[in-house]
Amino acid sequence: MTEICPVCGAEHSALFMRTRDMEYCTSDHVYEYRRCTTCDSVYLPDPPTDRLAEMYPPNYYSFGGQHHRSWIERIKSRIERRLFRRILRNIPDSSLRVLDIGGGSGWLLSEVRACDRRVTESHIVDIDPNAKPIAENAGHIYHCRTIEEFQSTRQFHFILLLNLLEHVADPVTLLGKLHSLLTSDGLLLIKTPNADTIDARLFGALYWGGLHAPRHFVLFTKKSFLRAVRQSGLVCEKFWYTQGAPQWACSVLGSLALKGWISVSKEHPMYCHPLYTPLLAVFAFFDFLRRPFSPTTQMMAILKKH
Ligand SMILES: [Zn+2]
Repeated sequence: MTEICPVCGAEHSALFMRTRDMEYCTSDHVYEYRRCTTCDSVYLPDPPTDRLAEMYPPNYYSFGGQHHRSWIERIKSRIERRLFRRILRNIPDSSLRVLDIGGGSGWLLSEVRACDRRVTESHIVDIDPNAKPIAENAGHIYHCRTIEEFQSTRQFHFILLLNLLEHVADPVTLLGKLHSLLTSDGLLLIKTPNADTIDARLFGALYWGGLHAPRHFVLFTKKSFLRAVRQSGLVCEKFWYTQGAPQWACSVLGSLALKGWISVSKEHPMYCHPLYTPLLAVFAFFDFLRRPFSPTTQMMAILKKH
């Protein structure tokens, strides 16, 4: 088993957690996550990149076109719309091409387009074939493939990579690819979980939702994330922490499932559990309260070229 950190290349690591797929129960395989002792990234050695179809079942939460959106997620998207508006204001071009990687049926991309009339082209790269007709009906150009497979001769003024970086085996190479896909004054918005947070320590002995095992291959700390950004030739314009309620909810429900107090199955994955949405509300509020004082469960950054 190769145990080379995919962020810094160091060979020394310590066991972080052994876990099964607690959220979708796609297999009984036990995955062993490691923590790099040099840069503190958490990663899955030899990630199962050849088993994407099994790992992302048809009932995966962002699949099926109609995204499962609780009321708390709708509030979140209203906040994100304000953020998109602020970012787009800083891109000077008269017409804008936007790319959403892992954008599903394009509901978030439609909001980006609604924020600014200059958006003339909106592209999605995603592996869900069912989202394609819905995205195309909404006027987006849909590329049904992984971001590693995606090729384009055109560059984009605004790229969204929201909760996607952690799903790829080689995030530094991906960031390098996004550098080449970005226009000279373009901006890249990234969101990824924070591995250096209180919930990782609290739930480390049972199940930490940040792993989303085995779908998250690499999890960063602020330090290792900024290191990966530098290695890719990009520059971090702005960095901040944001709430990560789904991560908390999955930590709680996964730990309860391990104790046998609740049941999760292939047919009834974790996000369908009746406690999931109430837990989202509680932890979104909790992360909102603590954000001024401590790093929360998700990191966000705006990146650009030199
Ligand atoms: Zn490392």
